[in-house]
Parts: sequence; structure tokens; C-alpha cells
Amino acid sequence: MTRRWLFADQLGPHFLDTPGQPVLLVESKAVFRRRAFHRQKAHLVLSALRHRAQQGDVRLVRAETYAEAVNEPLTVCHPTSRAARGLVRRLPGVELLPPRGFVTTPDEFVSWANGRDHLRLEDFYRYARRHHDVLMDGAEPAGGRWNLDADNREPPPRGVQRLDAPAPPAIVEDEIDEQVRADLDRWEREDGITFVGNDGPRLFPATRTEALARLRHFVTYRLPVFGPHEDAMLAGDPLMAHSLLSPAINLGLLDPLEVIERAEQAYREGAAPLAGVEGFVRQILGWRDFVWHLYWYFEPEYRAVNELHARKQLPSWFAELDADAVEARCLSDVLAGVRDRGWVHHIPRLMVLGNYAMQRGWRPGAVADWFHRSFVDGYEWVMTANVVGMSQYADGGRMSSKPYAAGGAYLHRMSDYCGGCRYDPKVRVGDDACPFTAGYWSFLARNEAALTGNHRMRQPLQGLRRLSDLDALLKQEDARNFRSSAP
Ligand code: FAD
Ligand code: SF4
Repeated sequence: MTRRWLFADQLGPHFLDTPGQPVLLVESKAVFRRRAFHRQKAHLVLSALRHRAQQGDVRLVRAETYAEAVNEPLTVCHPTSRAARGLVRRLPGVELLPPRGFVTTPDEFVSWANGRDHLRLEDFYRYARRHHDVLMDGAEPAGGRWNLDADNREPPPRGVQRLDAPAPPAIVEDEIDEQVRADLDRWEREDGITFVGNDGPRLFPATRTEALARLRHFVTYRLPVFGPHEDAMLAGDPLMAHSLLSPAINLGLLDPLEVIERAEQAYREGAAPLAGVEGFVRQILGWRDFVWHLYWYFEPEYRAVNELHARKQLPSWFAELDADAVEARCLSDVLAGVRDRGWVHHIPRLMVLGNYAMQRGWRPGAVADWFHRSFVDGYEWVMTANVVGMSQYADGGRMSSKPYAAGGAYLHRMSDYCGGCRYDPKVRVGDDACPFTAGYWSFLARNEAALTGNHRMRQPLQGLRRLSDLDALLKQEDARNFRSSAP
């Protein structure tokens, strides 16, 4: 049987044709020279690759580049970046197979997308549920409704510091992790390779066994409380009831379909409520597959689109995850989460980090690159639509109907950050002005012309025109942006 070349994000059994198929793994140092990744991401990927090398008939080649390591006939499942696909196509003797690791196929997506003016998640998600018979009762959605988002948008419960969701089981590091840590220390010392973020105990699965344990734990203990506070943030509970499964799914250790099936089974057995299960399935079958297909469906130039003409560079305190330099409590806490874990959940990514960057007019490509490097689950395919399209609105609305811009009032409603902050979410101008509130209005003012035709922005723009202190606010924000100092 032809040996299967597995990239480091194709490590689970669903990337093989039979369990005993011989495997080639390549550990390439060049990857870490190209970008300064989060130290914990480098650790996780290397640990996962080296653990996989211990299972079955595996040839692990350590090489500077992939091309050096490939010298026999191989098959490979479609890789997850354009650069890797180009490389595979150029190498002689390597047969490129269709992608695995997603629920829907490229043909399904293209047949759904072609001829549509707007590509919207909700429409794709319904198509995918019907097509793959997920959470369906015959031809109808389970429970009679496709979308239970309204039940999943509650603010955090008041007066509590944590949700009542048992923490995921801790990972126990082994001698492979010890070796990885020593190698990374040496690369930093001797090879000039640099990382961002803090090192720390490995927090995410590097093996299929660890990943399955996390999945079982999530479905049993955390999925039942996942739904209502899915969009909420608590300073004392960075994980809330999220699954933390993205690093394992993106490494290929879990098949997204098995994750979806376990969640649906919990609903069918009465162990988890429909709203939470629907919300969770929507994330994986909907969002994850959607952004994967958009990466390939949109033209390669999509990554560089910049419809709002945002051209500022990322300031160094943000690029280097210097959370201690930041006084704004929400931003400081979220940035510290990235620095210490390489992971924060969806709302801090979208409504704190992405929102702040968009308000300031930072270059979308640089923001996408920052997310790619700084998150343990970051890969090019997932960044492009999530950051450039969804969080920075740099595509002018090809994948979302309005910018995810929000001021302090939203963050105050959906978190417990504002109470302990030196800023006031209601104040726009002056020393106490919340940077998100002031940033929101200055974003609208700067982009008024570009957003005027969007009917969902009519109300906010009317609000902007009614502001009596707009001139003072814009002067203040220009000065703050000019200084590039942390808020
Ligand atoms: P849960 O809330 O438990 O959701 C379950 C699963 O759904 C996740 O594990 C993930 O596999 C999938 N999922 C949910 N939303 C998305 C989405 N928008 N795109 C793709 N998959 C999704 N996700 C990544 O996997 N890697 C990234 O680098 C990444 N960067 C992001 C950057 C920005 C600016 C934004 C707005 C979102 C990003 N996401 C990314 C999507 C999402 O925030 C994470 O998948 C999620 O927070 C991971 O935590 P979790 O596993 O606990 O997710
Ligand atoms: Fe964040 Fe503004 Fe609230 Fe402070 S007041 S925590 S900066 S939203």
C-alpha cells in the first residue's frame, strides 16, 4: 500500500485508508523560521507530530524543508493552505487526494454557492444539515426551528465569578513534551528562532486518546451548560462552557463529524438541551466548514482585500501581547489570555480583539497574520474568512451583512469587565472615555460613506449624526491613534 504523507494537521485515523497504512511525517524547522508563532502553539504541533510518530508504521523525517524529505511514491490528502497545495503539486510521485477533516465536500459547497449573490452562513448551515441529516426529524429541523441563537445569547449570570461547568481534564505531559520543550529552548538560543507568548504546561490534546477524553468530558459535563452563555464573558472564567476542541479538531485528531454525532446523541438521549446542541453543531458543521470552503472559493487575493482602506500597523504592545501595558480591563485580560494560553473563546476574539483592531483601522492582513501566529488553533484557512471577512469587514460584506463593531455598552452587557475598569462604558470623551465606546463612534465617522448603503447600519449612522460632541471625540481619537499607546 502506498505510504500516506500526513501533514501535521492530518494526524487522526480518518486521514488513512486503513488503520495499518504506512505513514510519512515531516518535521520542518523552516516553518518556525517564517513566522514568530506562539510558543505553546509550536509546542503543541511538535508534540502532536512526535506522539503520532510512535504509532504504527511511521517514518518521521526531520528536515529543513518538506521537499528534502519526500523521496518515494506517496499519497497525500489535500493540504489546508494554498502554499502547501502548490508544493504537493510540484513534487514528483506524490498523488493528491480530496480533502478530509471537514464534513462537506468542495463539490457540495460549490453547488450550493454558485449563482448566489451573497454567501451567508445561515443558508449554508441549513443546506449542510439537510444534506448530512444532522439534527433533523425527517425533512424538518429537530424541534421545529433551524436557529436557536436567541436562546444562546444571554449575558453572563450576575453575581457569579464562574459558570457551573466542570473544568476539562488536565493534560499530563510526558517525556516527548520534555524533549519538545528542550528543543524549542535550544532553537531560541542557538538558531535565532523566536516565539511570542509565554511557555506553560501543555493545555490541549496532542494525541487521539487525549482528544477523545476531552470530547467525552465536554459532551457529558459541559455541553449541557454550553448554550445560554455562549456569547458571554466573565473575567474569572476564561473558558466558560466552550469545548476547547478547536486545536484538536484542527490538528486532525478528531473528525468533526464524530464530534457532531456525539453532540446530537446527547440531545437524543435527553442529556443536553436542544438549544445548546444546535448552537454547538452550528459552530462546527456551519461556521467551521463555511470558512474552510470560503478560503478556497474566494480568489487568492481575498486575503489582501481592504475595502475600508485600513492601513495602520499593529502597535508593538498588541503585537507582542504586552497585556500589562493595557489599562482597559477587558482588553488587558483578553490579551493576557492569548499571552498565557494561546486561546480565548470566540467573543473575546471577535468583540474585543477584532473589534478593537477594526475600530483603530489596523491593516486587515496584519491582523490576520497576528491571529494566525498567536493562537494555538490558528491556520491560514481559518484566519482568512474569520479575520479578514468576519472580524475586520475588509471584504465589504461578502460574508457578513454588517461589521462586528460595538462599543462599551455591548461589552458591559455581555461581560463583568466594566465594573472593575478605570474607564466608563457610557463615557465617550475625556479621561474616563471607554476606548471601545469612543472607538466605535470614530469607526462609524471614518467609514460613514462606505457604510451608508447598508440598511443594517442606518440606525447606528443616524445615532452618529445626532452626537453633539463628535468633533471633540474625533480629535481625542486622532490623538490616541497617533500615539499608538495602549489604552
Ligand atoms: P466552541 O465554542 O466550543 O465551538 C466548537 C467548535 O466550532 C470549535 O472547536 C471550532 O472547531 C468550531 N468553530 C466555531 N466557530 C468557528 C469559526 N468561526 N471558524 C471555524 N471554526 C469554528 N477558530 C479556529 O479554529 N482557529 C482560529 O485560528 C480561529 N481564529 C479566529 C479569529 C477570529 C477573529 C474569530 C472571530 C474567530 C476565530 N476562530 C478560530 C473561530 C472560533 O473563535 C474558535 O474556533 C473557537 O473560539 C475555538 O474554541 P472552542 O473549541 O472552545 O469553540
Ligand atoms: Fe472594556 Fe470599556 Fe468596559 Fe473598560 S469600560 S472594561 S475598556 S468596555
